[in-house]
Amino acid sequence: MKRKSNWMLIDGRARKIKPELSVEFMQGKYPEKRIEKCCAPPSIATMEKWVSNGVAKAVDGCRVEPDGICPHGYDSWISVLGWI
Ligand SMILES: [Zn+2]
Repeated sequence: MKRKSNWMLIDGRARKIKPELSVEFMQGKYPEKRIEKCCAPPSIATMEKWVSNGVAKAVDGCRVEPDGICPHGYDSWISVLGWI
């Protein structure tokens, strides 16, 4: 079985984190950084599709406008990755 990897946003950058390291652990280890859980970042091709469709995903997986923010306060991947 393929092991699921964890993604986190660390100071706005998507990082792949070992599955055994939780968000809480990382927040405790690096209290000076802003660390949030997120889903896997999209590919460039996916983001191009989002921009042309006018619909994107927020870092927590919600549907948002390409430059929008989801109801939970998360930016779209396109804004987070500095694509717009
Ligand atoms: Zn959300």
